[in-house]
Amino acid sequence: MIHKYFLNDKYIVLDVASGSVHLVDELTYDLLDDYQTMSKEELIDKYKNKYEENNIKTALGEIKSLVDQELLFTEDDNSLDDVEYNPTNIIKAMCLHVAHDCNLKCKYCFAAQGNFKGQRSLMDLETGKKALKFLCENSGNRKNLEVDFFGGEPLMNFEVVKDLVKYGREIEKDYNKHFRFTITTNGLLLTDDKIDFINENMDNVVLSLDGRKEINDPIRPTLNDKGSYDIIVPKFKKLIETRGDKDYYIRGTYTSFNKDFRKDLLDYYENGFKKVSIEPVVTDPKEPYAIREEDLDEILKEYEEFSKDYLSIRKYDKDFLFFHYMIDLNQGPCVVKRMVGCGAGSEYIAVTPEGDIYPCHQFVGEKDFLLGNLDTGIIREDLRDEFKCANVMNKDECNSCFAKYYCSGGCHANAYFNNGDILKPYEIGCKMERKRVECAISILANEI
Ligand code: SF4
Ligand code: SF4
Repeated sequence: MIHKYFLNDKYIVLDVASGSVHLVDELTYDLLDDYQTMSKEELIDKYKNKYEENNIKTALGEIKSLVDQELLFTEDDNSLDDVEYNPTNIIKAMCLHVAHDCNLKCKYCFAAQGNFKGQRSLMDLETGKKALKFLCENSGNRKNLEVDFFGGEPLMNFEVVKDLVKYGREIEKDYNKHFRFTITTNGLLLTDDKIDFINENMDNVVLSLDGRKEINDPIRPTLNDKGSYDIIVPKFKKLIETRGDKDYYIRGTYTSFNKDFRKDLLDYYENGFKKVSIEPVVTDPKEPYAIREEDLDEILKEYEEFSKDYLSIRKYDKDFLFFHYMIDLNQGPCVVKRMVGCGAGSEYIAVTPEGDIYPCHQFVGEKDFLLGNLDTGIIREDLRDEFKCANVMNKDECNSCFAKYYCSGGCHANAYFNNGDILKPYEIGCKMERKRVECAISILANEI
């Protein structure tokens, strides 16, 4: 299967199975439409009024050469069966919900605007310690383990976060592991001390902000209905100014209220935030801010427009990074690696303040997705197997999708909440993902 498109002044052809990307001229681009169904003579006849015959013959020779080298019209590797793709029960990453409580009440929040449906709670230190031990003991030979301090708002339980970092450093020696810590915060409670601690101890930090002030403030109000932008942005700036070259991300959510989210991404850049990400809201389609099919044209156009801005900025500032436009075409055609996806429910789990285990933060509180708890361990092996098998090879829609080795089968939570089935991808999300992949490849094509 191939996928071809024109974007950012390039004719681009992606050979899906081999992962090869070809930049071609308009003639080759046209010929590829009929290459597999017409003879050489028929192709010359069809295109001779538009292109010179000799050029058509040369282009056909080049196409044939790429086909012979298995770089074009390559067949999928059907030999990849369950025996070859056999993910283990090794857990590599944990989302640790240290606080089921929040000091913002974002309208779209999965945690019922921060109050967790009246079940506010903070993780105690003993539960946190048990979770870190659980991760060590269920991670096989894997040395590097990811722990994301998450909420609600984890800064509301910061003493426990600090103690857990200390404890993690102690036990990693006993288990021969190395923890990579991340914290995801809305920033409201950041102080100089906390910034210092985070910059010293967190390998990554995810800073939540929904773009421009006029977008962020109505959708992310404080508990007393004030805007949060002016409180948070100076703190985030301070954090990244003293962070050196350690990783961070500004992460936003866009809704149908800001389909012009390109302006939000540019606002991040103008504020000095260079590692950025913005994601479409996941919510009940009945909500006024939900993204619907009829919003898609505008949204897809916005990704394209932003790819142009992005290319212009990166001409003089290569530090500007948009998460979805970072794609590595040189990673090689390692199909197994690319088909695994996010690993939710198999390699990645979320742990609640009570010690309950879920496939990821988006499933927390969904009793049908409770995998077990820190005392019993994972008892729903059947559910775990379902997640393990939820990869591109087992999803009908993914089989014929050109983006399958870049998106790795999409988000299980989106699939479940929209279609009631983790094996049925969320179509609106798929259309966005395909556009982002197209943009990302066209950016690389322009930067090579
Ligand atoms: S974009 Fe959708 S259909 Fe394509 S691989 Fe991803 S989840 Fe599957
Ligand atoms: S299922 Fe979706 S929300 Fe959960 S970890 Fe995977 S990609 Fe993220």
